[in-house]
Amino acid sequence: MITRSPDLLQSVIPTVANDARDWQTQLAQAIRDPRELVARLGLDNHWLPGANQGHALFEVRVPEAYLARMRPNDPQDPLLRQVLPVTAETDSVVGFVSDPLEEAVHTPRRGLIHKYHGRVLLIASPTCAINCRYCFRRHFPYAENSPSRAQWEETLTYLRRDPSIQEAILSGGDPLASSDKRLAWLVERLGEIPHLRRLRIHTRLPVVIPDRVDDALLAWLQATRLQTVMVLHINHPNEIDAAVVDACTRLRGAGVTLLNQSVLLRGVNDDVETLAALSERLFSAGVLPYYLHVLDPVAGAAHFDVPDSEALTLVDELRTRLAGFLLPRLVREVPGEASKTPL
Ligand code: SF4
Repeated sequence: MITRSPDLLQSVIPTVANDARDWQTQLAQAIRDPRELVARLGLDNHWLPGANQGHALFEVRVPEAYLARMRPNDPQDPLLRQVLPVTAETDSVVGFVSDPLEEAVHTPRRGLIHKYHGRVLLIASPTCAINCRYCFRRHFPYAENSPSRAQWEETLTYLRRDPSIQEAILSGGDPLASSDKRLAWLVERLGEIPHLRRLRIHTRLPVVIPDRVDDALLAWLQATRLQTVMVLHINHPNEIDAAVVDACTRLRGAGVTLLNQSVLLRGVNDDVETLAALSERLFSAGVLPYYLHVLDPVAGAAHFDVPDSEALTLVDELRTRLAGFLLPRLVREVPGEASKTPL
């Protein structure tokens, strides 16, 4: 048992908002050791064997700025639960597989997934700033999907030749884990493709390291002719602190439309109070709640699953609590379907 007093813990967990480190340094210094995660939050050592087992399957990664929003000494903290590996990840559960969205069969070029009409998804970075235990890409072969500059040229040629493609979606990993130099180059090239109208960026970085929204990022976002939509990924209202609100304000100032998608997760946000507070806090930060996903059945994440009947009841209750524009759409991604499937 680790016996740190709460006062001592407060002095151990740094307040990154006051720290001048740039985002790259924060990314490089993210916690990657389960022992450190357990110790820094003052958890009992009995969490360690499970944390080590899960870590062996999908490594721990938690930036300090995200850690600072967790409650010390509380293994049920909703942010901690998203990142702490547990023994249940080793369970083999029927229906939970390594590639639940069958992305391997929709990857015609390295780093490119084309499964929806009019949109392509580009794997712009093989890494994330945080490793979410429920991630449907936790087994994705990123090493095979990290394009070189020459392979990016091939991808751009693929896009140029298909005038039905109107939207390029930067995904990952987390696309914003890539350097601004590389992203500025890519987005400039995308902007030269006449039939492309929109750029969509799926990212968790402005949430987990808000300092990622710096002048260099805003510069290329403002320079593109493409309409830009950023889809954030926030599951719990405690993820939205003052630094996240500030990052959202700067993004909106650069003309970026902000949406959010959440995943419905057992033990994290599977109650009406939390989901209602999340929608309210998102809107206060200038972000529209967009999707509430049911869990993709990825191996290692079955303990986060919420049955459909319970999800539907939750959203029905949420509907009575919130203005219509604050109600996210409850959806599932079904392999082979042309769009997300409403429940
Ligand atoms: S940030 Fe997104 S892609 Fe990365 S681990 Fe979390 S859910 Fe997966």
